[in-house]
Amino acid sequence: MKKLTKTVKCKLILNDEQFNSIKNTLVSFNNACNDILKISDENRIKNKFRIQKLCYHDIKNRYRLPANLVVRAIARVSASKKSKIFNGLSFDLDARTFSFKNMKMSMSSINGRLKNISTCKGDYQRNMLDGKSSTSAKIVYDKKHKCFFIHIAIDYEINDAIPSGNVTGIDMGLYNIAYTTDRLKFSGKQVMHKRKQYIKLRASLQAKGTKGSKKLLKRLSGKEKRWMTDVNHNISKQIVDNNSCGDTLVLEDLKYIRKRIKLAKKQRTIVHSWAFGQLQNFIEYKAIGKGLIATYVDPRYTSQRCSKCGFVHRSNRNSHQFICKECGYTANADYNASCNIRKVYLDTLADGVMSKTPKATPAKAVASPCL
Ligand SMILES: [Zn+2]
Repeated sequence: MKKLTKTVKCKLILNDEQFNSIKNTLVSFNNACNDILKISDENRIKNKFRIQKLCYHDIKNRYRLPANLVVRAIARVSASKKSKIFNGLSFDLDARTFSFKNMKMSMSSINGRLKNISTCKGDYQRNMLDGKSSTSAKIVYDKKHKCFFIHIAIDYEINDAIPSGNVTGIDMGLYNIAYTTDRLKFSGKQVMHKRKQYIKLRASLQAKGTKGSKKLLKRLSGKEKRWMTDVNHNISKQIVDNNSCGDTLVLEDLKYIRKRIKLAKKQRTIVHSWAFGQLQNFIEYKAIGKGLIATYVDPRYTSQRCSKCGFVHRSNRNSHQFICKECGYTANADYNASCNIRKVYLDTLADGVMSKTPKATPAKAVASPCL
C-alpha cells in the first residue's frame, strides 16, 4: 500500500466571536512570522530548531500565541525560500492545534480553544473526510468573500498493484460533457439548452432589479446548482460503475480544460460556469470508494493529436470530427481526445515517472470550494 496526501477544502461557518478570534490569530501569526524572519535574517540561520532555540519564548510572550502555533510560524519562516514579508492570509495547524470529527472542528486560537465549529457539508468533502483523521491543516482567509476556509491534509492509501486493471481516458468539454475510451458518452446538448434557458431567465430578472426579482434570482441560482450537481452525480456514477476495482481513470488537468475551450463570449460564460471541477471531484471520490484510481494528466494537444499515428495539427480537428491529415484516421473528436489522455498516462507509466512520484496520482489537490 502506498500512502498519499490530499487536501480537502471546507468553508468554516463561524459566529462573530469565532470569526474575530481566528482573524486575530491570523494577524498575530503573521506578525510573529515577520518578526521571526527578521531574527532569522539578522542571525543568518534558517534551521528551524536553531531559530526555535533563539526566539521561541520571546515570540510566544510577545504574541500570546498557543505554543504550537509559534512552532508552526517558525517552521513556515524556516521553509520559506526567500526573505519576504508574510502576506497575512493563512496560518498552519497541526495535530495539537486542530481536530475534526463529523464535519465539526476545533482549533487553537489566540483566545483559547474554539470548539464545535461547523464546516460546510458538500458531498465531496464528506466523502473525502469520512472516517479519516488528519494531523495537518491550514486556515486560509478568502479576501473576496470575507470568510475562512480550512484546507485539511488527509492521508489515504492506494493499492500498489494498481494500475493492473483497465485504463480509461476521459475527455471533458462542452459538446460532450464527458467522453470515455470505453465509448461512454454524455452529450452536452440538453445540458447546454437548459443552461441557456437559465442564463436568459437570469438576465431578465437582473434587468428588472426589483426586490421580488432578486429573491427569485437567488432561488433560481440554488435550483440551477442542484440540477448541475445532479447531472454531475449521474455522469460520475455511470463512469465509475463502468469500471471495477484496480482500474484507472485518467482525467485532464482542470486548468487545461478551461484554457482549451476557446469559444464565443456568450458560450464562454456557460462553459466557465459548468462545474467541471465538481464533476472531477465526484468521479474521484466515487472512484476511491470503489478501489479505482483517479489520476490527472496535462493533456496538451490532445484535441489536435491523432491517437493512431501521433501526428499533431490544428486542422486535424474539424468541428466534432477528427480526421488525421497524415494517416487518414477518422473518429469522433472527443473520443480521439480521450484516447490521447489515456495514452499520455500510459506513456508516463512507461517512462517510470509514475512509480517514482505520486504527483500524477490522486495526490494532486483538486479539492473544490464548497457547494
Ligand atoms: Zn494519424
